[in-house]
Amino acid sequence: MKIGIVGLGLIGGSLGLDLGMQGYEIWGVSRRESTCQAAMSQAVVTHASTDLASLAAVDLVFVCTPISAIVPTVAQLAQRLKPTAIITDVGSVKGAVVAAATALWPNFVGGHPMSGKAEAGLQAATRQLFHQRPYVLTPLAQTPSTAIDEVTRLIEQLGSQLYVTDPDSHDRAVALISHLPVMLGASLLQVCTTSDQRSLAQQLASSGFRDTSRVGGGNPELGTLMAEYNRPALLAALAQFQHQLAQLTQTIEHEDWSGLQAYLTAANQDRPAFVDGR
Ligand code: NAP
Repeated sequence: MKIGIVGLGLIGGSLGLDLGMQGYEIWGVSRRESTCQAAMSQAVVTHASTDLASLAAVDLVFVCTPISAIVPTVAQLAQRLKPTAIITDVGSVKGAVVAAATALWPNFVGGHPMSGKAEAGLQAATRQLFHQRPYVLTPLAQTPSTAIDEVTRLIEQLGSQLYVTDPDSHDRAVALISHLPVMLGASLLQVCTTSDQRSLAQQLASSGFRDTSRVGGGNPELGTLMAEYNRPALLAALAQFQHQLAQLTQTIEHEDWSGLQAYLTAANQDRPAFVDGR
């Protein structure tokens, strides 16, 4: 089986490394020639080009470009792939992608691996990035089951945990657990870096602050595209968070220490089940 990967960055490069290990021929396409050369020299792909026409003979393509380029890439692939080829994507937002991509290529299966890193680009690509991590597929009613089965088979070979849902549910869920935390992490960093206590706070910051702020310091292009393409769900999540903050502020203003302890006890008890209880 020949696999194409468009966009040889963190996610595309990591897919190339793991799928190459499974013995597949990997045909990579990226925007810059220098990235194609680096992907070849790091054995991320077996063939590399800046031209989508190089994918004419592949059986399945992962589109791993920034979110804004996914649907335009599918439109270009539709002119170049063989009719039986399957296209899947890895974009962090599905509502803005899946219906439009399916209209261009019926053999399209929306996907989203729930694993990443703060760093971007091919140099950040790593083996086993998807191992034991959730990988969501968001097929539509009309998505051919043969295409879903083929993508599922590859996801299982990556060692990922498969979840299947619809694009809208996916977008509302990731707004809560991925896109909202990016905005909260970034605003926490702003509070600290603009404070007159910045210097001492920085010296005292330890593992707790490192954990809490980590996702706020990630790829700014990705964070902006998450907000742009998942705007309603992110705004709803931000509104819920503001409501929680307002309640907490009131509790502290009123010196309601037993109320605060009950709130923090609920968080203490809920976290293990929420984080580890899949
Ligand atoms: P990334 O590291 O910035 O990689 C994207 C790569 O795509 C860039 O390195 C660029 O390569 C290439 N590219 C850009 N526009 C292109 C185009 N029009 N045609 C072909 N290649 C193009 O980003 P990423 O983190 O891998 O994210 C890629 C996708 O994965 C996004 O849709 C994102 O939503 C999704 N995702 C990201 C994460 C995460 O945590 N990072 C997790 C899950 C899913 P050149 O060097 O050639 O310019």
